[in-house]
Amino acid sequence: CGVFGVVGHQDAAQICYYGLHSLQHRGQEAAGICCECNGKMNIYKGEGLVTEVFDQDKLKNLNGNVAIGHVRYSTAGGGGLSNVQPFVFRTMEGSMSICHNGNLVNANILKQELEDQGSIFSSTSDTEVLGHLIKRQEGHMIDRICASLDKLDGAFAFLVMLEGRIYAARDKYGLRPLSIGILSNGAYVFASETCALDVIGAKFVRDVEPGEIVRVKDGKLLSKTYTKDSLQDKICAMEYIYFSRPDSNLDGINVHTTRKLAGKQLYYENPIEADVVIGVPDSSISAAIGYAEASGIPYEMGLVKNKYVGRTFIQPTQEMREQGVRMKLSAVSSIVSGKKVVMIDDSIVRGTTSKRIVRHLKDAGAKEVHVRIASPAIKFPCFYGVDTSTIEELISNKMSVDELCEYIEADSLAFISEEGLHKSIHFDHQKCGLCMSCFNGNYVTNLYDSFDKANKF
Ligand code: 5GP
Ligand code: SF4
Ligand code: MG
Repeated sequence: CGVFGVVGHQDAAQICYYGLHSLQHRGQEAAGICCECNGKMNIYKGEGLVTEVFDQDKLKNLNGNVAIGHVRYSTAGGGGLSNVQPFVFRTMEGSMSICHNGNLVNANILKQELEDQGSIFSSTSDTEVLGHLIKRQEGHMIDRICASLDKLDGAFAFLVMLEGRIYAARDKYGLRPLSIGILSNGAYVFASETCALDVIGAKFVRDVEPGEIVRVKDGKLLSKTYTKDSLQDKICAMEYIYFSRPDSNLDGINVHTTRKLAGKQLYYENPIEADVVIGVPDSSISAAIGYAEASGIPYEMGLVKNKYVGRTFIQPTQEMREQGVRMKLSAVSSIVSGKKVVMIDDSIVRGTTSKRIVRHLKDAGAKEVHVRIASPAIKFPCFYGVDTSTIEELISNKMSVDELCEYIEADSLAFISEEGLHKSIHFDHQKCGLCMSCFNGNYVTNLYDSFDKANKF
C-alpha cells in the first residue's frame, strides 16, 4: 500500500490526489482521501485506481487544509469496501482518521484483547486496531498514540489525522518506508516514497526514522521516539527490488541505482555469453541495464508492455494473474529471433511470469533463454505487508534451482546471492540492515500466530 498526507494547505485534497496518483504502483485495488475541516472528517473512498475513484467534483467536496490518503493492495484482511482506508473513528472527544501501509503481526492478539474489553471492529483489517488502542489510553493525545504504537509489532507506516494535525510514525524496524517533504508555502507532506514528493514539487526533508513519531506544530516538525525497545534498520529489501518506483530514494538510497548494481552483481556471480540482454518491464529494466553494462552484451527491448494493464502480481487471484501476464507482455520477434537471450527479472514468486515469458520468447524465435533473477530465491512468506503469505505458493520452496529451471523451460537459471544483493543496496555503507526474511527465514519480528494461521498448520 501507499500512504500520503499533507498539513496546512488550502488544496490539501488535490495535493493528496497527486501524491496518491504517483504511489499508484503500490496498490491498485482501492483508494481513499480524508480531509479534515474544523474537526469534521470529509472522506471519500472506493475500489479501483485513483483516477477511477476520484474526479474533480469529488475532490471539491473534500474541504479542509489537512488530508491523508491511501492506495490499497490487500494483504491482511482481504478486499471489500469496509477494509478500504483511510478509516474514520468518530468519538465523543472528536474524530480521528488513520491510514496504514504494512502488516501488524500481533494484530489478532491485540484484537482479541480489545474485543474482550468491549471494542467492536467494523472491518477485518489489522489497521483498525490502532484506532481502538488509542481510544482506550488516557492522558495527552501524543502519549496515547505513543503508548498504542508501542504495543504494535510488525511493519507499519502510519498516518493519524486529528483536528488540524497529522502524526506520522514508522515501525521499530523501519520495515516500511516513510518520507517527509515540504512545499514552498511551508506545508509539510508525508509519503511512502519520495516520488510522491517530486510530483507535487515538495522538497525532501528527511525520512521518518524507525520507532519515530513526528508531528507538525506551528509550521515546525516535532519528533519523538515512541518506544523504549531497541530500534533497528531493517527496511524491506523487496522495496528496492520490486515494490518502489525507480526514481524514489528509500532511506536515502535511490531505487534505480540499487537495481542497476544488482544487475551488475548478477552478471559477476552468474555470467553467460549471449547476444542480447532484455528486462521484464517495468521493474526489471534497471537490473537488465546493469547486467548489460557489466557483461558488454547489448541491452535490447525484447519485451513490450501494454501500459494499460496494471501490476499482475497485485491481482488477488492466480487466474487473474495468469490472464494479466498474457495481456501485459509481448515478445519482440525481430529482436530475439535466432538469438541467445539473457532475460532478467526482478523476482520469482509463484513462477507465473517467468514461465510465460520464456515461452513467449521461444515462440518469438529465441534460440536460447537464460533467466537471471535480481533477487535471491523467495522461500519464506512475508508477514510484513507484501502478499506472499503462504509457503505453498512460493515455487522456490517446492523446487530446487534446477527443477525450477526445467519448470519454466529456460536454458539456464540463476539468482543473485543474498550478499550480492545486500552489497548492491548498501553500496556506500550508509546503513547496514535490511529485511531479507523472505529469502532466509530469519524473521525480523516475533511472528506470534501469523505463520500457523497463514499456512494452516
Ligand atoms: P511470479 O509471476 O513469479 O508469481 O511473480 C514474479 C513477478 O511478480 C515478477 O515479475 C515481479 O516483477 C512481480 N513481483 C515480484 N514480487 C512481488 C511482490 O512482492 N509484490 C508484487 N506486487 N509483485 C511482485
Ligand atoms: Fe520485504 Fe521480504 Fe521482509 Fe517482506 S519478508 S518485508 S517482502 S524483505
Ligand atoms: Mg515483473
